[in-house]
Amino acid sequence: MRREWHQLSHPGVATSRPSTDSAEDEALGLDRWRDLPRVQMPPWPDMGEVASVCKVLENVPSIVAPYEVDQLRARLAEVCEGKAFLLQGGDCAETFADNTESHLLANARTLLQMAVVLTYGASMPVVKVARVAGQYTKPRSSLTDSLGLAAYRGDMINSLDPDDAARVSDPQRMIRAYANSAAAMNMLRAYLAGGLADLHGLHDWNKDFVRASPAGERYEAIAREIDRALDFIRACGMTDAEALRTVSLYCSHEALALEYDRALTRVSGDKAYGLSGHFLWIGERTRQLDHAHIDFISRIANPIGVKLGPSTSPETAIELCEKLNPENIPGRLTLISRMGNGKVRDALPPIVEKVHATGAKVVWQCDPMHGNTHESSNGYKTRHFDRIVDEVLGYFEVHRGLGTHPGGIHIELTGEDVTECLGGAQGIEDLDLPDRYETACDPRLNTQQSLELAFLVAEMLRG
Ligand code: PEP
Ligand code: MN
Repeated sequence: MRREWHQLSHPGVATSRPSTDSAEDEALGLDRWRDLPRVQMPPWPDMGEVASVCKVLENVPSIVAPYEVDQLRARLAEVCEGKAFLLQGGDCAETFADNTESHLLANARTLLQMAVVLTYGASMPVVKVARVAGQYTKPRSSLTDSLGLAAYRGDMINSLDPDDAARVSDPQRMIRAYANSAAAMNMLRAYLAGGLADLHGLHDWNKDFVRASPAGERYEAIAREIDRALDFIRACGMTDAEALRTVSLYCSHEALALEYDRALTRVSGDKAYGLSGHFLWIGERTRQLDHAHIDFISRIANPIGVKLGPSTSPETAIELCEKLNPENIPGRLTLISRMGNGKVRDALPPIVEKVHATGAKVVWQCDPMHGNTHESSNGYKTRHFDRIVDEVLGYFEVHRGLGTHPGGIHIELTGEDVTECLGGAQGIEDLDLPDRYETACDPRLNTQQSLELAFLVAEMLRG
């Protein structure tokens, strides 16, 4: 019998193969979504071109490997059991122009700083997942923007430039998104292997513009305590603990342009893996149970997430669990509540209570960003830090009240000194927003605000 090449590899590292046109794909149902209703579909002008782009993507090396995906699922199982915390964050929308070494490193460092604050402050392992290497699509509530142009849908689909031609969806952008994602992961992997996350270099992560701020000083204090702990460990003779020098940083994005995520799906063993990223989620606007997005995501073995807005009924949440995690595997499914600070205390309890009562194993994560967006007096899409903190507080209150684990946060942040969200110790006000408002889509916490949030969440976790 002829053996497939993937069966010839070392048994310890399962490899994968392109998964198209085979009977196996048919059995796995990987293309069923194509026959289902689908909202937020990119208005591709030429489906023939989409098909030829996908043919290319079906044969490229994947962004991530199946064993990493399995590893993340196992780590999320620990979150599910209340033994770890999930920290997920990054840009609302990555752009090709900002896919630079400095931006990627700044975002990664900010996430790592937050993770240190949480790990140290709450004595709990933190699973780190970046919104990176594929977060190039955006669902939109309106077909047009304030200028009357076709809405920007993310760099994988069209361009942010404000002119008609730039806003036409272009399938070739999927290739650029792939290339940028591959380059981003390549760089992050290299820097992580080279000591980016080495706990011996904690002080270097603190950016100059943060160092003198209250959050920056608090961070330095923790870093000094960790230095002392490391000295102690060294003095005890434990000199080369690998865990102190490197971390696993996983990548995630919203699975919105299904053509892209499907084309990067590979079969390994008897399972399909969405290898465009480790963790894929379905947004609030595309989570209809009998539609394309939920069908596609139900068929891949990755850890997956679904956003739940304030209109979600407990019954819908239960049906999502049944459909997306029929075998009830811990770590497989993360339910990401994004209720808004004014609603979380009313809308979340019945969902958590009823899902929990079914015995469904889920990671409960809080996205305190997307329910708290408003327009500033001077016309900027913004969020107030106080509302973000209050939603996280409400989320902790709900879970503490019900005896479930507040498993993580999902936020939009950047490692730069932007002025996009209001408040925080810097006291950013409406009139400060134009100074450095740089996001391609939603307002992100800047580095100081991200650190401040981490300190507050560490306290909540401890409490
Ligand atoms: C997002 O995470 O950027 C997003 C669009 O979220 P939601 O689906 O919750 O609106
Ligand atoms: Mn967003």
